[in-house]
Amino acid sequence: MLDRPERIAFFIGALLGPVVWFAMLAALQLNEPQLPLASIEVPYLEITLLSILIASATAFLAEYLMRRFLYSRLLKIYKTISNQNQFQSSLLADAEEIGKAEMEVTSYVMKKSAELSNLRMYDDVRREFIANLSHELRTPIFSIQGYLLTLIDGVKDPKIRKDYLKKASRNVERMIRLVQDMDVLARLESDRLVLQKEEYSLTEQIEDALEQMSDRIAQQGITVVRDFDPEADCAVFADPERMDQVVLNLISNAVKYSRGEAGGFLRIAIEDSGDRTFTVLVEDNGVGIPKEDIGRVFERFFRADRSRTQTKKITGTGLGLAIVKHIVEAHGHSVKVISTLNEGSEFSFTIAKA
Ligand code: ADP
Repeated sequence: MLDRPERIAFFIGALLGPVVWFAMLAALQLNEPQLPLASIEVPYLEITLLSILIASATAFLAEYLMRRFLYSRLLKIYKTISNQNQFQSSLLADAEEIGKAEMEVTSYVMKKSAELSNLRMYDDVRREFIANLSHELRTPIFSIQGYLLTLIDGVKDPKIRKDYLKKASRNVERMIRLVQDMDVLARLESDRLVLQKEEYSLTEQIEDALEQMSDRIAQQGITVVRDFDPEADCAVFADPERMDQVVLNLISNAVKYSRGEAGGFLRIAIEDSGDRTFTVLVEDNGVGIPKEDIGRVFERFFRADRSRTQTKKITGTGLGLAIVKHIVEAHGHSVKVISTLNEGSEFSFTIAKA
């Protein structure tokens, strides 16, 4: 109704007309209160015309005021809209500000939630590490304690005494290995380990590792297949001490996880990858790794369950492959594994040519 002020004027006029009419009649009566209304000559025509005039004038005034009010309001809106550029740019500026603020809040929330999930992950890793470590330490500690208590109680047979002492000593060695592996891993993970790269012969390094493992290789009746020219130098550029550990860990695993029956082999190959790197492959036909465990063998303390139960005598820290991965990756290369349960495994890594 406010958009049609003439209607308002009409209503005011229609309502006000009779009110004014009766008001004038009442005023006339008040002037001559002692006379009955019938004896007065009432000027009906004048009263009617005058009331129409007053009602119309009031209505027109109301309409005029209403129009002015609406006009002033509309003028403001019109001015804003007609100045399109200013209107648009102010809208854009507002939207930009809101957008900016929204983006800032979103990125803050995302950053904080990423930090939170990282902290949660570190906490899980820390908890898992402590659980694994205590598990790995518990077995040798309890074994040593058992042997020592039995010896304290008194064992008469000197052969059994010696056997118990040997077993206790083997468990101490296991703990020492665990501590050493953890030390290496801790230094690698904290980036405190600086690589001392130099040029050296890869074939010599592999031969040295095979020499170190020769007793165990012979014990297990494993045939070593050298798929490389032992005369070729295969010069590489890496940290020889650290890479010794990589080669030794892989060869020792291939021996450790052999099936212990006739026909066991260990194949070592050096392939020229053609991109200024060599690929070293260490293959065995041992117990293999269950499919579901393959992706996890490089994790700290991870030991594939089935190979552990199948070969109960095998001892390990579950840190060897984690160390291998760290060292190879610290050199800017990668290590891979292909394995089939009960058929064998093939570990491979790349190394830079000199
Ligand atoms: P561990 O000290 O137990 O040998 P590693 O980190 O060297 O620890 O190896 C992790 C796990 O990966 C082993 O427990 C074993 O289950 C599996 N594994 C590693 N090498 C071989 C292999 N050549 N053949 C079969 N399983 C292997």
